[in-house]
Amino acid sequence: MAARRIDGRAVAAAVKERVKVDLAAYEEESGRAPGLATVLVGEDPASEVYVGMKVKACAEVGIRSIHQQPPASIRQEELEALVEELNADDAVDGILVQMPLPDHLDSDRIVALIDPLKDVDGLTPVNAGLLAHGTPGLTPCTPAGVMELLAHEGVELEGADVVVVGRSKLVGVPVARLLLMANATVTICHSRTRDLDAVCARADVLVAAVGVPRLLGTAAIKPGAIVIDVGVNRLEEGLVGDVDYEPAAEVAAAITPVPGGVGPMTIAMLLHNTLQAARARSGN
Ligand code: NAP
Repeated sequence: MAARRIDGRAVAAAVKERVKVDLAAYEEESGRAPGLATVLVGEDPASEVYVGMKVKACAEVGIRSIHQQPPASIRQEELEALVEELNADDAVDGILVQMPLPDHLDSDRIVALIDPLKDVDGLTPVNAGLLAHGTPGLTPCTPAGVMELLAHEGVELEGADVVVVGRSKLVGVPVARLLLMANATVTICHSRTRDLDAVCARADVLVAAVGVPRLLGTAAIKPGAIVIDVGVNRLEEGLVGDVDYEPAAEVAAAITPVPGGVGPMTIAMLLHNTLQAARARSGN
């Protein structure tokens, strides 16, 4: 039987609607709209598209955008000074530095400089530490989006066997931590995992965050599993995930498509985080 297609666009639209309503209430109470600063270094076309989508989504829910686009030649000290300036700017509730940065820049140092209260990507060491501690501050957007999709699908995580493929700071580790907080039994796989398919095939819920097109096929999917494909791989034929969608959909109970699954959730959760940051900064 074909799996249910998890519609990330629809769930993201519902999250945005929720943010819009909550934001109107925040604005009425505080007399101001939240502001999100986007920093895009250089003119990489793919990054310009991503940032453009984020700025557009902000406008849709009533978040003010403050866009900064320094040239690719910007020096480390200059970019650090820009981040410090945004940290000090009271009109800015969230700061997003679009990755990747040009090679001559130290992205870890830049991220670490962002005020943790304005870290709407949830990537600073402080927010990563709070998440590891089990007391999350601002949570990384893609992992938060995965959890929102699972909640929307009514997936019972307590006691479930969940396998996460990928252990990046951006996706794999934080999503595993959130799943653990939801009382799932979590296994994290990576490039040195032995017999990946066999480990994945034990999973009631499989989360793929690898970046290898169609790495996981039917041998990696337990019949009736819920499959969340975070992967975005650009091939000549278009975007594909880390899961081989068509055959996987014959085995799984529900599966996210690529595109139209996790991707839209990332932007929706950025809006959610920006409102959360604004509220926390104004003490409500
Ligand atoms: P990353 O930093 O490159 O991490 C990839 C992870 O996959 C690493 O932990 C790596 O293991 C593991 N891996 C690589 N090859 C493997 C293999 N053959 N078998 C098992 N594990 C393997 O990537 P990322 O930033 O986490 O992103 C992962 C994917 O999600 C990418 O396709 C990215 O474009 C996509 N993504 C999508 C969104 C969205 O909004 N939809 C957001 C962020 C990322 P090691 O640690 O051992 O190297």
